[in-house]
Amino acid sequence: MPPTSLSPEFWRDIAPIKDVFKPDAQPEVHIADAPTSDLRYYVPFSDTVSSRPLWISPRRNMWADVLYASGPGLVNRHYHPHEVFAYTISGKWGYLEHDWVATAGDFVYETPGEGHTLVAHHHPDPMRVFFIVKGPLLWLDEEGNSVGHFDVHDYIALCRAHYDKVGIGAAYVDTLFRG
Ligand code: FE
Repeated sequence: MPPTSLSPEFWRDIAPIKDVFKPDAQPEVHIADAPTSDLRYYVPFSDTVSSRPLWISPRRNMWADVLYASGPGLVNRHYHPHEVFAYTISGKWGYLEHDWVATAGDFVYETPGEGHTLVAHHHPDPMRVFFIVKGPLLWLDEEGNSVGHFDVHDYIALCRAHYDKVGIGAAYVDTLFRG
């Protein structure tokens, strides 16, 4: 017989694990509405693209975020010595260096050793992409020479300054530290 909305889920009688965390484990993170429409949470990353931090690991020089652009956007050319994962929530984006364009539901994996220029395209919905980034990004000039870097420590400083400015509070950033 098919379950109705009133029947309890089949797993209701299963007991949860009692010893959830090992003594040195950190608590989990749950963030409701990660790709929020509350724009205060998006930290300006370039003139046209911003980032909502979800998870930050200073020790591993990594972070997870939702990258956001309300219209056409640009993150200028840079090089990744480490890997990057991306999952597209809404909008349309890609890299000048590749033929594909990603829209809602598209997954992207960038191998360590890739340089690229991120662009957000015209689309009725804002670009919102869940990224897992292992730092640093190395900014490149037009000849491909590195002219600066951006790593997790720059990211943390950027996020703290913005959250302080918009009233969320710089300390919010520290609640995202794990790993
Ligand atoms: Fe990149």
